Amino acid sequence: MEELYQYDQEYRDSMSTVDAEGNRIWIYPKKPTGKVHNLRILVTIILLSLLFSGPFIKVAGQPLFLFNIFERKFIIFGQVFWPQDSILFGVAMITFFVFIILFTTAFGRIWCGWACPQTLFMEMVFRKIEYLIEGDANQQRKLNAAPWTSGKIVKKALKQFIFIVISLVISHLLMAYLIGVESVQALIAAGPSQEITGFVGLLVFTAIFYGVFAYFREQACIVVCPYGRLQGVLLNKDSLVVAYDWLRGEPRGKMQKGQVAEDKGDCIDCKLCVHACPTGIDIRNGTQMECVNCTACIDACNHVMDKVNRPRGLIRLDSFNGIQQGRKLKFSGRLVGYTAVLIALIGLLSFMLISRADVETTVLRVPGQLFQTTETGNISNLYNIQIINKTFDDINLHIEVIDPAGATLSRVGQAALSVPANEMVDGVYFVEVPADQVLATKTKLVLGIYSDSELLEKVKTNFLGPANRSQ
Ligand code: SF4
Ligand code: SF4
Repeated sequence: MEELYQYDQEYRDSMSTVDAEGNRIWIYPKKPTGKVHNLRILVTIILLSLLFSGPFIKVAGQPLFLFNIFERKFIIFGQVFWPQDSILFGVAMITFFVFIILFTTAFGRIWCGWACPQTLFMEMVFRKIEYLIEGDANQQRKLNAAPWTSGKIVKKALKQFIFIVISLVISHLLMAYLIGVESVQALIAAGPSQEITGFVGLLVFTAIFYGVFAYFREQACIVVCPYGRLQGVLLNKDSLVVAYDWLRGEPRGKMQKGQVAEDKGDCIDCKLCVHACPTGIDIRNGTQMECVNCTACIDACNHVMDKVNRPRGLIRLDSFNGIQQGRKLKFSGRLVGYTAVLIALIGLLSFMLISRADVETTVLRVPGQLFQTTETGNISNLYNIQIINKTFDDINLHIEVIDPAGATLSRVGQAALSVPANEMVDGVYFVEVPADQVLATKTKLVLGIYSDSELLEKVKTNFLGPANRSQ
């Protein structure tokens, strides 16, 4: 049955965007129109609105999202995460990847075509501007082949100018997610002479975005994107993908409107689905790695089916088995397994988030220090204590020794311990333990971190003493 729709196997030997000499084949996709595309425009408006408003949304004075890799500070849904949250971050990452695997196994590459910022900007912003200035695919081809007249220069210059401006806007948006919208505003106000590093960063990002959207284009999805490369192992025959109904369409051949040809399928071989494809492939060859599920070919083919009075949906969202056996999307064993793992991980992640302490304390021995015997005969150890305040309020803290009883703690230098919101402070502390309570080289030491009388956290560490002590 499979060979029925694998009409032409040559597509397996080459890339749709590279010719026999290895040169790039520039893709001129036909302007998409139709119901599915209208829905896609609506989804794009919603997603881009969310993307652009993200840095401006605040939760208790903090951004909703911040990915400050420079200061190693991350805010996700208004929650601040520090490098010390590495376990939580690890669980969140594993959950995310399992979700991606599960989602892709069930719904194919719909993320790529409908939600990925690369596709949204490329197909719904940059490509639309190109259509507006240079016209549809054939007009663009003609313009590129034409001599450099003043009209062509004006069109090309205008397009590139708008591309650069939009790339500049996107690079500012990226910066806002990295360093916060206030820092970007300060950077703009200060100008390049005072903020040369930030300015160079903006220029580099702008150049990358311009290069990707003006020239590199679909190659980002076909050649670079790791998610795209994973499709071969994530998809199965029950995955929902943009698919050509070969049972209905083959054998393909020319058909006139209203003509009933008993020996022909519904595909009239007009190739409009190929002309609409932004990655230049022929979906009639079956699911291919280059397909980003943008659904442009669905609209293109639906228009054709309308014209030849055949039902829509010759190309549609369906699975291989759905087409071959008339089966709906079904929960395979693999899908059930992924779901179980995903639910367990989400449960673990939720528990870790709910039980996450307001402060996190790290107690480390001062390097090179073992123990000292004081004039009163007590044993003392020196510690570096680092406290992170994960809340949005300043906290006044004090630290007490819980175990062993009778031990005392004193801070070197300033006595008060005030930790500003979302900040970290550290200090050096002496812990003194009466000699009769230090019975081994290592004694368990438990510190309590208090805000007023409320115990926020208990931290355990070792207290070092002389060897061979016994009563
Ligand atoms: S085959 Fe269809 S869905 Fe896939 S990339 Fe091309 S136009 Fe988009
Ligand atoms: S647009 Fe439809 S009818 Fe035309 S070639 Fe593609 S699948 Fe066949």
